[in-house]
Amino acid sequence: MENCIFCKIINNEINSIKVYEDVNFIAIEDITPINKGHTLIIPKKHSENILEMDSETSSELTKIIKKIGKSIIKGLGAKGFNTIINTGKEAGQEVFHTHIHIIPRFENDKIEFPKGKETTKEELILTAEKIIKNLD
Ligand code: ZN
Repeated sequence: MENCIFCKIINNEINSIKVYEDVNFIAIEDITPINKGHTLIIPKKHSENILEMDSETSSELTKIIKKIGKSIIKGLGAKGFNTIINTGKEAGQEVFHTHIHIIPRFENDKIEFPKGKETTKEELILTAEKIIKNLD
């Protein structure tokens, strides 16, 4: 898609540090890494976010996450990794071409996610009901 930075990276119009490429995906180093080895998995076929991805690409994605994750653990000595998919501006999505963040985690790396909020059982049930009603 025109003016999409990730489409340009896929088409080699913009340079990137690639760690993986196959017919349907590339994986590149994030240029502003949260942690060493922060990698982006990007499906070559443009979709705005994961909800718009076709089912074939979606089902292949897990294999790529596992491949890159294992390689990060083995190659960088990471103890684990976070897999983050930002969907929508409010969720922190900045590039509107589906991508998956793989963030390596090391012992005492001082990266913290926000603590969970307090709630009640009633609130949890009401929330669950709204989600359940809208499952396809
Ligand atoms: Zn794109």
